[in-house]
Formats: sequence, structure tokens, C-alpha cells
Amino acid sequence: MIAHWIDGRPYEGHPTSVGNVYDPSTGQVVDTVGFATVDDVDAAVRSASTAFAEWRDTSLTARSRILFAYRELLSRHADDLARAVSKQHGKTFPDAQGEVARGLEVVEFACGIPHLLKGDFSQNVSRGVDTLTVRQPLGVVAGITPFNFPAMVPMWMYPMAIATGNTFVLKPSEKDPSASLMLAELFVEAGLPSGVFNVIHGDKVAVDRLLTHSDVTAVSFVGSTPIARHVHQTATASGKRVQALAGAKNHMVVLPDADMDLAADAAVSAGFGSAGERCMAISVLVLVGDAADMLLPRIEDRIDRLKVGPGLDPESDMGPLVTPEHRDRVVGYIDRGIEEGATLVADGRGVQVPGHESGFFVGPTLFDHVTRDMTIYRDEIFGPVLSVVRVPTFEEAIRFVNDNPWGNGTAVFTNDGGAARAFQSEIQVGMVGVNVPIPVPLSFYSFGGWKDSLFGDHAIYGPEGIHFYTRQKVVIARWSDPTHRGVDLGFPQNR
Ligand code: NAD
Repeated sequence: MIAHWIDGRPYEGHPTSVGNVYDPSTGQVVDTVGFATVDDVDAAVRSASTAFAEWRDTSLTARSRILFAYRELLSRHADDLARAVSKQHGKTFPDAQGEVARGLEVVEFACGIPHLLKGDFSQNVSRGVDTLTVRQPLGVVAGITPFNFPAMVPMWMYPMAIATGNTFVLKPSEKDPSASLMLAELFVEAGLPSGVFNVIHGDKVAVDRLLTHSDVTAVSFVGSTPIARHVHQTATASGKRVQALAGAKNHMVVLPDADMDLAADAAVSAGFGSAGERCMAISVLVLVGDAADMLLPRIEDRIDRLKVGPGLDPESDMGPLVTPEHRDRVVGYIDRGIEEGATLVADGRGVQVPGHESGFFVGPTLFDHVTRDMTIYRDEIFGPVLSVVRVPTFEEAIRFVNDNPWGNGTAVFTNDGGAARAFQSEIQVGMVGVNVPIPVPLSFYSFGGWKDSLFGDHAIYGPEGIHFYTRQKVVIARWSDPTHRGVDLGFPQNR
């Protein structure tokens, strides 16, 4: 059974319920994970609380050195991590390598913490009075993460939180929990003191305890919209700082003047990469005017050539879905799309992978003539299902995207600079690609959607990560100034 990680070592806990961990390509249960009880969560928070007293005062140089050592270890073990991700999640090995690399970039950003935490200083804000600002850590912070990036999304959080002087309790997805333990183990090997980074596995019981625990000061969450709302409401009601990144429905708008081969490559890569289990996956193509007639044959041709198979098979372009429940849910959406009148152009149901008949596979699926009232448009499917919506004008395309309640990512494909500029200005979405289908910011920017894709005020990692995990203190100081003596009840004025 997969254990928790508390105080720098494995911790068995006292599970009263247990989850299955699958190999999604064979459909077999390969491990189990014990879910944390309230007492187990309390043990992790206690360990993080104790470690905070020392860690917050550890010098910036010492923290930075540990992060550099961690960076080296992660680099050395990147393929082991990617293999672990691929085995439990199902994504292809190169895709998992990409996930690890993007997470590693956040660690690299965090290595620069001595520079990133510099405050401001002004001399003589009033005669003989100076002002300085510092950013101080919050204390114990918690991270709750989804199944679809079991290495990268935790790495969006804890390296930033720990670099800024906090201690961390991670509650990763119970569906693919092993990568988080490898991440924790390597951090200890890099010299991180015990208790600074803890991992507890579990479900709602563990999450709800973290959301209300009086010693947890802030919560970072990434997952689906209904749970993000719950996390945001519950944790803010308990007085915590919260960033809750949520679900998505990402639209790619294609104008008739676009490079259609580029757009077809992008639509297929961003629609079916990781079997559509990415919050930045393109799930809706909004095709303007006669763009559909030029683009769709190119997309169909590319879909025909995609190979579905086990994630660790180098021949596979697309792996299975994560669990049997999720596979059934995605197939249910395809059935619903047909019932509600969308045109099924490519059907991924019933795909057979020889030797892996019990794997959770669904092939690439394409629907044309999708409308805004259909369930396949309204819900986040989170699988390899791409919907085509046809609109007559560019203005209508912008209105259509803006009417959607989500606002995570979007893209426009065009060769018209004016249209691209209008799109990036008018669109109500947090991350925008121009001829780039998945506009995920690098680690020195910050990641975050708008509307129902993010609850809270801060995007994640990068400069916003520094702000989220610290609070500003302003110090106004005067030293031995004889001109300021004597009682004066007036409001101070500058001279
Ligand atoms: P999920 O919301 O089911 O689970 C996320 C986390 O919440 C997990 O750790 C899970 O154990 C926990 N959880 C689940 N149910 C809970 C409950 N009732 N109460 C408390 N905690 C609960 O999400 P998922 O299926 O693991 O991941 C897919 C979702 O994550 C998609 O909606 C996707 O768009 C979203 N996502 C968003 C981003 C982003 O940056 N916006 C990134 C990755 C994934």
C-alpha cells in the first residue's frame, strides 16, 4: 500500500478507507493507497508547523542551495519520474517527460529566491524617516492537486511556497499518487529539513480537514470547477488565503486566412494530446466562414494516422484514460452528442488495442455542427473529444467564446495582425495564444484563467506565486532625530 510522507519519511497512518491505483493501459489494479484520516492530516500539519519555526529563519542562500541541489536530482531522475507518471496516469512517456520538464522549470525559477524576495527601501520619506518593505512567509500552506499532472501541478506550488519560507502539506490526487512521493524523497536527499514538505493521500476527508485546520494559513487548489468552488468557499470562510484553479472549455478560433496545415496540426495536438486530459486542451474549434471546409479534411487525415496504445509503448501517440469510471463518462458524452444531434465525424468508442483489451482506451473523436445548448458543449468532458462550432463572422466567434462561463485558455489562428490584436484585447480569457494552441506561460510568468476557471485573486507560480505565498510588511523607521521630540496631537505632515 502506498504510504504518506510526513516528517521526512514514509508514514503508514491508520486508513479506514483505501483507493485503487490502476495501470490504465491494462485495466489492472496495480497498487492501493490508504486514505488519510483527520488524525493523519493533523500529524502532517503538526510536522509542518514545527518545521516552520526553523525554516522561516533559514537564510535565503541556504534555501537557494537546497533548491539548486534539488534541481540537479530532479534532472537526474526526470525519466524515472516520467515513467511513474505514465504508468499510473496513462499518458505517453514523451508527454510525461514534458510534464516533468515544465515542473522542473518552476524549481529553476525558485532557485533565484534571494533576488525574488528583495524588498523596497526609501530614504527620507519624511525628514530623517526611512521606509522599507519585506515579504514574509505565511506559515503552513496546503496544496491539493488533480490527477492529470501528478508531477507538474504539485511543482507549480510547493517549490514556490517552500522557497519563500513556508512549510507545505500536499494532498495529491489519489488516482496517481506515486510521483508525489518521489518528489518528496528527492527533496530530502537535496537537504530539505524534515517536516518542510509533507504528502498525505486521501479524499474529501483529508481535503476538508486541510481547508478548516486552524494551523493552515493558505490553500492552493487545482482541479474541477465544482470542487474548486467548494475549496474556495470553505477555506476563505476559515480565514485562509486561497487560489483555486478550476476546469475549462478552451476554444480555438480559426479565421479563413490562417495557415490551415499549422491550424490542423495544432488542433489535433492540443485536442488529443494526453487523451484530452489537460486543463489547457483545446476542446472546441470555432471555425469562421469557410475555414471549416479547408480545415476539417486536414484534421480528419491527421486523426486517421494517430496511434492509440499504452503510454509506455514508443509507437503510441495517445494513451488510455485514467480510470474505468472516467472512460465510461467520456463514452457517455459521445453517446449524448449523437442523441442531441451533433454530427459524429470520428468515433473513438470501442477502440481496440491488441494485447490491452481491458485498458481504458477511447480513440480520438470529432463532432461537427455542435451548438451551444448541447451537453457536449456545455460540460467539460476531459477526454479526446473535439467539437466543431461554425460561425459566420469573427465578431460572432469572439462573442461565442466570451459567452462561455470558463476562461482558462484560448487561441486564435490567423495571418491578420489586426484580427489577432483585436482578439487578444477583447477576449475574456486568462491565457491567449496567437497561432499557439496551448498558451501555458513559462515559470517566470504566472498561470491562471479567468471566470469559472480560477477562484481567488492570484494566478499560480512565477511572480504571482511569490505574492500568494508571502505577505508584505512595511517598516517606517526614525532614529535619534532631536527635531521630532515633544507631544503633537496633529496628523503627521511631511516637511
Ligand atoms: P477533481 O476536482 O476531481 O480533484 C482534484 C482534487 O480534489 C483531488 O486531489 C481530489 O482528491 C480532490 N477532491 C475530489 N473530490 C473532492 C471533494 N468532493 N471534496 C474535496 N476534495 C475533493 O479533479 P481531477 O478529476 O483530479 O482533475 C481534472 C480537473 O482538474 C479538470 O476539471 C481540469 O480542468 C482541472 N484542472 C485544472 C487546471 C488549471 O490550471 N485550471 C489544471 C489541471 C487540471
